[in-house]
Amino acid sequence: MENTKSLKLDVEQCIGCGTCTEVCPFNVYKIVNDKAKIININACIECGACAASCPVDAITVKGKKTDINDSEIHKRMLGSEWENWDGKAATVKLDEPKRLFIFYYFVFILFNTAALYGILYLMKPRLDSWHKYVTLGFFAAFTLYLAFLWFWFIIIFLTSYTGIKLRFMHKKAGYLVHNVIMKIYKISSIFRTDKDKVSNSFVKVGNEFIKSTHKKPKQERLLILLPRCLTGEIFKSVKKMCNERNIELAIVEGGTLARKKIIEFKPTSIIGVACERDVVEGIKDVAPKFSVLGLCNERPQGPCRNTTINMDLLKEHIDYFLGVDGKSQR
Ligand code: SF4
Ligand code: SF4
Repeated sequence: MENTKSLKLDVEQCIGCGTCTEVCPFNVYKIVNDKAKIININACIECGACAASCPVDAITVKGKKTDINDSEIHKRMLGSEWENWDGKAATVKLDEPKRLFIFYYFVFILFNTAALYGILYLMKPRLDSWHKYVTLGFFAAFTLYLAFLWFWFIIIFLTSYTGIKLRFMHKKAGYLVHNVIMKIYKISSIFRTDKDKVSNSFVKVGNEFIKSTHKKPKQERLLILLPRCLTGEIFKSVKKMCNERNIELAIVEGGTLARKKIIEFKPTSIIGVACERDVVEGIKDVAPKFSVLGLCNERPQGPCRNTTINMDLLKEHIDYFLGVDGKSQR
């Protein structure tokens, strides 16, 4: 039967990222020898999803490489975290210092100290009337909790600024990402500090924590997770780097696909690239079980389109897990 579909694939352009195979609901593509191949063109309904998602514009549908242009900025495939984005290319590149997150953690401890001892002071006459040890019990419990907060403050301060090795804290980042970050967001919002700035700072603090606490296995199985919105040049550079060092690379949209990839590959370590919002969400998902380093992308055209990353920083993260010339295991 004569092919009347407008779907076209420029194999020369293709970098074999596999995005089209995941996006297409009708299994039109397959990756063969590191390149996409159209294996079932008759199933194509010309929806354009693959063309819109291809990072190197290797696909055309109805003569168009993509159904997205800058005047239709809200039609991008934005992650749910960006649904309220106002269309301005603000927060294109953040580089917040670690001290921002650490400062707010300090403020969090001060708030807790004032609140807990304040409540105890107000309740003391009533508690004393029950039994003098009741007040003492509350005082001991509050003090223990505050000591715990200070313990973590000292840990993140030391790991952030001294490079100290604290292997006994391996896989203990769960407390930071599940308990602390949400509270820090609330406190920083009182001071009207942008959530992305806090997240950017937090990712740096978290990375230092991982570098201080990660127990290296005999063979590192490193997985790099990339978002779909990176430019074609960046994809090619990262893919080349991964091929040279035998690193597993996956392009994922959202947490579900990332989790699926992690379950399939079973990495010992992960480097997650995305915007601040998605990196923090990703770290929250996997931090208790894996050593994960985050890398925030730069967004010169706003979120989810033609984003870039600092390649030197990516190499630094890879070198941390694999050693300067080391290779990953697959
Ligand atoms: S246009 Fe739609 S149906 Fe056709 S190959 Fe692309 S994603 Fe699949
Ligand atoms: S999305 Fe584009 S670059 Fe990626 S495999 Fe498909 S055609 Fe190739």
